[in-house]
Amino acid sequence: MPEAAEPTPADAEAWIALVLRAYAESIEHGNRCWQQARTVADGDAAAASALARAAMLGLERMGADEPTSFGMLACEALRHFGGAPELERLRLARASLPPRPGLRDWRRDADRAIAVIEGRVLGRCACLAESGSGAPVWGPLWEVEAETVDAQRCCCEITARCTACGARWSVLRDDGYHYPQYHWTRL
Ligand SMILES: [Zn+2]
Repeated sequence: MPEAAEPTPADAEAWIALVLRAYAESIEHGNRCWQQARTVADGDAAAASALARAAMLGLERMGADEPTSFGMLACEALRHFGGAPELERLRLARASLPPRPGLRDWRRDADRAIAVIEGRVLGRCACLAESGSGAPVWGPLWEVEAETVDAQRCCCEITARCTACGARWSVLRDDGYHYPQYHWTRL
C-alpha cells in the first residue's frame, strides 16, 4: 500500500499551505520544499507548469510577514518555469508585493522573472533578460570562461557564455556595495 502522498504543486492550494507550514518550522524546511519541486520540474513539463501556477498563487496570497525566501524562491520558480499564463498575473501581483530594502525586496526578483518570462513567450533566449536585469552570473544558464579579480578596484571581470544560445558576455562584478552588482556588456 502506498503511503498517503504529500501534496504536490499540482494541487496548488494544498502545496502552498504545506510550504508555509514548512517555513513555520524553519527557513531550511521551507526552502527544501521549493528545491524538491524544482528538481521534479526540471525534467517534467507538466510538473514545471504546475510549479509555476503554484508559485503564482503563493505570490498572489503573499502577506507582508511571509519569509523573504518564500517570495524569492516563488519568483525563481516563475523565472524558470513561468509561461504566458503567469505573465499578466505576475505583473498584477508585483504591485502588491511588500517593499523591502536591498536584496530582500521581492519586487526585484519579480521584475527579473517578468523579463525572463516575456522573453520566453516571445521566443527569445533568457540570457537577454537575465543580462538586461543585472542578474548574477549563476546557474546552468552560464558557463564562466574567464574570471579576473581586481582586488584594488574591488571588482571581478568575468567572461561568460550562454549555454543555451552561445552568446558571450563580459560582466563586471562590482563588490564595492553591500551585495555584488553586475554590469553586462555583449561581446
Ligand atoms: Zn542565450
